[in-house]
Amino acid sequence: MSSPDFSTDPHRRLNPLTREWVLVSPHRSQRPWQGQVETAAAPVELEYDPACYLCPGNARAGGVTNPAYAGTFVFTNDFAALKPETPDWAINEESLFVATSEAGQCRVICFSPRHDLTLARMDVADIGRVVRAWTEQYVELGALPGIRSVQIFENRGAMMGCSNPHPHGQVWANQTLPTELAKEVLSQGEYYRAHGATLLGDYLRLELRKAERIVCANHHFVALVPFWAVWPFEVLVVSRRAVSGLDQLTAEEQAGLAAILKQITVRYDQLFRTSFPYTMGFHQRPTDGAEHPSFHLHAHFYPPLLRSATVKKFMVGYEMLGMPQRDITPEAAAGMLRDALPA
Ligand code: ZN
Repeated sequence: MSSPDFSTDPHRRLNPLTREWVLVSPHRSQRPWQGQVETAAAPVELEYDPACYLCPGNARAGGVTNPAYAGTFVFTNDFAALKPETPDWAINEESLFVATSEAGQCRVICFSPRHDLTLARMDVADIGRVVRAWTEQYVELGALPGIRSVQIFENRGAMMGCSNPHPHGQVWANQTLPTELAKEVLSQGEYYRAHGATLLGDYLRLELRKAERIVCANHHFVALVPFWAVWPFEVLVVSRRAVSGLDQLTAEEQAGLAAILKQITVRYDQLFRTSFPYTMGFHQRPTDGAEHPSFHLHAHFYPPLLRSATVKKFMVGYEMLGMPQRDITPEAAAGMLRDALPA
């Protein structure tokens, strides 16, 4: 083990009050910013933007040139928060200064060569290609020695801190389980041991019976505003079959996932008459070699908008000090998203 360098090494630090970890990436302060600030995003009109570092054939930071790609395009993030060659160290001083180095990889996935598209504006078949690219990344990165979790996500819109409107997402592969995944692994494991079924499988059965918070559904996936949603128009996407990762989906289920992602994002855009900002991502079983039959594949959509394209929810005041709070009920939000498109 080497000694810690807080100014250059990606590492995590423990908050001893919440017992939650934070990932620190001190070398990452030079990343480019191409997003707008504090405006409701109008749809991008340019199919190709010569100034975009994700468009085909354009130069990225560091002088690399993108290939003339036609479908999806994956590359290692030029400003990766995690690096594979990170020195290995850990410190623990009286349980008050706790930190370990964190190795990993960060990749970018361009969803389409078209600068002006979004998941909502893409064909379902093209979204299917993105689903297959996500699956390949989960399998490939998850198989690397020392990689125990693979987080696939998309930050959509300048409001969410997305630095470029070109349709793309990210994959971060970690040496450890990030906080949110670790919590979910624990609770799903306990539920499975107690009930012999997955937590989300049982939850989905109840939600389908109540039919109060369902947004849309197909043969393979259901999208709903969860009972416990924090964000006003938060959506949970759950597979009907209890699978633990994207890699266990059949071709039909992959197509079902692509279809429901289109359904959700079109509803968001319709409801708010804007290119709707959100963070979305998948939770899948850890890639530590264990089977994790308790883990049930799902995706979270966390949109920041409250009630119009310019009113944003902030987690402030009591929410920072006490607990999150919401005004609109999940049932009402689900109804609005349901009604945003004809059935
Ligand atoms: Zn989750």
